[in-house]
Amino acid sequence: MLQAHPNLKPPPAEPAGQVEGTDFRDHIATADKEGRRVWLYPKQPRGRFYRARIWLTWVLLAVMFGGPFVKINGNPLLMINVVERKFSVVGVIFWPQDNLVFALGLLLFLTGIAVFTAAFGRLWCGYTCPQTVLMEMVFRRIEYWIEGDAAAQKALHRAPWTPAKAGRKLAKHALFLGLSFVIGNTLLAYIIGIDALKAIVSDDPRHHLTGLTFMILFTLLFYGIFARFREQACTFICPYGRLQSTLIDENTIVVAYDYKRGEQRGHWRRDETPAQRAARGGGDCVDCFQCVAVCPTGIDIRNGTQMECVNCTACMDACDAVMDKLGRPRGLIRYASLNGIEKGEPLRITPRMAGYGLILLLLGAALGALLLTRSPVDATLLRAPGALFQQTPGGRISNLYLLKLTNKTHREKPVELRLENIEGTLLVLGGQLNLPPDQQTDASVLVEIAPDRLASGNTPIEVGVYAGGQRLHRIKTVFIGPRK
Ligand code: SF4
Ligand code: SF4
Repeated sequence: MLQAHPNLKPPPAEPAGQVEGTDFRDHIATADKEGRRVWLYPKQPRGRFYRARIWLTWVLLAVMFGGPFVKINGNPLLMINVVERKFSVVGVIFWPQDNLVFALGLLLFLTGIAVFTAAFGRLWCGYTCPQTVLMEMVFRRIEYWIEGDAAAQKALHRAPWTPAKAGRKLAKHALFLGLSFVIGNTLLAYIIGIDALKAIVSDDPRHHLTGLTFMILFTLLFYGIFARFREQACTFICPYGRLQSTLIDENTIVVAYDYKRGEQRGHWRRDETPAQRAARGGGDCVDCFQCVAVCPTGIDIRNGTQMECVNCTACMDACDAVMDKLGRPRGLIRYASLNGIEKGEPLRITPRMAGYGLILLLLGAALGALLLTRSPVDATLLRAPGALFQQTPGGRISNLYLLKLTNKTHREKPVELRLENIEGTLLVLGGQLNLPPDQQTDASVLVEIAPDRLASGNTPIEVGVYAGGQRLHRIKTVFIGPRK
């Protein structure tokens, strides 16, 4: 008998997201009719899905914060150094010259998202998105720990300012700020690498003003997101939530309310048996609002799939607890597709999913082939800016070039250059080219060719980059000579 439960109905003036009737289509749950922010106080979820998320969170946090410290072949596990345009994925360094790899990787990633979302909805958001993990499983739990569950938080918010209230608020925000500092520094480590971050921390601050500025900006940004902005990031900023309306269909598995089983909703009458309730048309939903009370985005999942729903499963746990008390089967709110609820259909591969899957396979194969045939050395050879041709005392024509070589391997690589399609001499100014691992090397190159070998004006030439007698790369460029 749940009628006596204190949370059967939210108080009318409560800042919760529940909107009666079909009004929910016209409002978002976190804004009132004047457009002012409605602050949410979600109840702490309890149940098997929440416990699973806690365990997963520990693993994810270890990966997230440990990632910058892990090195493979001396390179970071993951580094997105946009400043130096140097990227490391599982220890393999990628350069801007790998633009085709990036483009295919991005396409593969986006198609993967489309396929995954079409099949499993927002599983990523609920379990692994850093925003959800940090907000719901770290910051929100600190808040529960310091301020108590939803009712205690509301009471504290309404209470007059006292030293005890100020102490709690101060402790919470100090912890939030400290954690934001750690998260901000971790993000910075992913961008510039842990060694550069250590240098910022340990060196004279005057030498790292840019790095320190970003450290402060990231800290404030994360503090703002987790202390104030919260679920608004998922609703307004993240494009993935908005994309879901185009990606999911009636076969997609989402967190769904089984309206066939739940309706007609209503309070369970005292001493009524399930058969009596069914006979008067009553469903299993007792309208207790527990699913709404725990929702971190303030929505009522009984209104159907909504953009704000991050599939966090809190409502599933809350409703399961209610069903347990009623002695009814769990799963009134569960992972299911619309077709699963309406027709009892299991997840099936739709033509759209098959199409996406095929594209995914083709892109994966193309990316694999590209990575397997990726040249260990990349090279560009450009004529020195502003320099025209010169005539040597021996009567030959010379051109000066700027050479840029990228060693994509983890070993030092001695290379030599050879003129491929024309007779002439090629001289690297500065001597032998020993390319340091995972780095770019610049050099000047002088090419001399006899005039009788040249066409009038521009002559296309090819230069091979060799290591151990094997050609690694071929560069095409132009040699300028006199007009004939
Ligand atoms: S769906 Fe479950 S938790 Fe939500 S109101 Fe109905 S019975 Fe309560
Ligand atoms: S509706 Fe349920 S799954 Fe969706 S965000 Fe709210 S509590 Fe999480």
